[in-house]
Amino acid sequence: MALHCEKGLLPFSCREPVVEQCIYCGKHFCVKHGHVEKASCNNIICSRNYKRDRAFKERELWEEERRRVGLERNASNLCGSPECINEVYVACGHCEVLFCPNHVSRCTFSFNTYSRRTTTRVQGDITLCEACKPHLKEYKRDHYE
Ligand SMILES: [Zn+2]
Ligand SMILES: [Zn+2]
Ligand SMILES: [Zn+2]
Ligand SMILES: [Zn+2]
Repeated sequence: MALHCEKGLLPFSCREPVVEQCIYCGKHFCVKHGHVEKASCNNIICSRNYKRDRAFKERELWEEERRRVGLERNASNLCGSPECINEVYVACGHCEVLFCPNHVSRCTFSFNTYSRRTTTRVQGDITLCEACKPHLKEYKRDHYE
């Protein structure tokens, strides 16, 4: 049986030719029932997933670009922050770009370690640049929890 749009209100109610398959729910859809360029159908949940993924990707691209610029500047012994005139001082614990003291901060956090009988609260810290601060949570989770 040929593929047909799976997004009509009733099964087989939409007779339009299919143009794309939704990457979230797997349904094939026609031009009327989805967004070809996004490979996402018009379902609310799928559209929401698409928006979340796109925001995430944009953030990744932005960080990647920032990292590239930073490393380029580091090669000339300059702080990784664009337009900063200071020399490098310390590396960011996440992106590993070198920065001057003005462009990094020490982020402290606490976490629990468990032994058979007791739970101990321990302090940890990491040096992060501005752009990497949102990663503190993941870092803590990956390394300590
Ligand atoms: Zn979908
Ligand atoms: Zn359709
Ligand atoms: Zn960083
Ligand atoms: Zn700097």
